[in-house]
Amino acid sequence: MRRIREGEVPFDAGTAVQEDAGKPVFRGNGANDYVCVECGNLLAEAMDPEYMGKRVRIRCGRCRTVNVAAEVPVEMSRRARR
Ligand SMILES: [Zn+2]
Repeated sequence: MRRIREGEVPFDAGTAVQEDAGKPVFRGNGANDYVCVECGNLLAEAMDPEYMGKRVRIRCGRCRTVNVAAEVPVEMSRRARR
């Protein structure tokens, strides 16, 4: 995961909030675990990269950092950097 950039995505598009810092928000059958960029807390367990696209954001239940999945399309990153 990585930290979200200001203005990268609309804030009202839905961010998953981790209520319990000891429990991942999502749990799947994929190959990757996703952890908070700030504190390393487990946010999503065994997820497929296809599912964890740029629309998936998770607010860490421990440090409140909003994380986005790392697999963001290159065009998206360039535009956000300006
Ligand atoms: Zn965190």
